[in-house]
Amino acid sequence: MCYTFAMSQIEVKNVSYNYSLGDGHAVKALKGVSFSIEKGSFVALAGMNGSGKSTLAKLLNGLFVPNEGDVLIDGLSTKDEKNTFEIRKKAGMVFQNPDNQMVATIIEDDIAFGPENIGVPRDEIIERVNSALEAVGMSEFRDRSASKLSGGQKQRIAIAGVLAMRPDILILDESTSMLDPNGRKDVMSVAKSLNEQGITVINITHNMEEAALADRVIVLRKGRIAIDGTPKEVFSSGMLEAYGLTLPPVSKLSRELSEKGFRFDGVVIDEKELVEKVCLQLK
Ligand code: ADP
Ligand code: MG
Repeated sequence: MCYTFAMSQIEVKNVSYNYSLGDGHAVKALKGVSFSIEKGSFVALAGMNGSGKSTLAKLLNGLFVPNEGDVLIDGLSTKDEKNTFEIRKKAGMVFQNPDNQMVATIIEDDIAFGPENIGVPRDEIIERVNSALEAVGMSEFRDRSASKLSGGQKQRIAIAGVLAMRPDILILDESTSMLDPNGRKDVMSVAKSLNEQGITVINITHNMEEAALADRVIVLRKGRIAIDGTPKEVFSSGMLEAYGLTLPPVSKLSRELSEKGFRFDGVVIDEKELVEKVCLQLK
């Protein structure tokens, strides 16, 4: 008999991760975390400093392996060393500091670095670099030096470097936190458009306006999942502040309006929706 199981793209099963401190003590960074993520999702991963977000990100692309439990990417366990290469290719990561991620001075060389390293043929590298630059809206910068770019442009190049590896999953670990509002917006719109093309995006962020762009928000607190739901559900839970996070301005405003007698179903996360609902109730 043959059973087929519907497998999610990412399966995190009862995962714990400890950093050993060498003196016999350990930091329990993640404690029995379980969730799954479907292909093509746009997930925000939030939580205060030290809640375990970066640790989780590194477990998802096989940089770390769990002390307990399992992480499966397309059914491949990160614990099995023969899967490591495949998993790193599938799940690309962009980090916080735009200045620490360039390996070459010239932008196109930087993007070509990953595919060159895994022996992609020359013609295909050119093709990959072109399409990656196009996807992040940086084609005209290809032969320039990275040092003159803005932070947001550097992060778009870092994303292009990941895209050149043809990933299925893009993990952004606070990749917008050092950027100005325009840089943030550009990086988020690139992430959104890649997601629309089928790439799963996991955006680690403190910024709840960014989290509102996701389909799903997972909040970590002290190494455990505190809440997991749609942005509206999570923002309406009344618990965000307790998790060290701040409601986006539009949601705060809707909460204040509720206190003055306006009625919304939970908090509102979208400005247009807030205006429409207020106008309807003023009639
Ligand atoms: P976040 O990304 O949410 O800020 P981290 O995953 O970086 O959280 O950290 C989770 C916990 O693990 C924190 O208590 C942090 O101090 C600890 N930690 C992170 N990296 C290390 C490390 N290299 N050695 C020891 N403890 C660490
Ligand atoms: Mg972190």
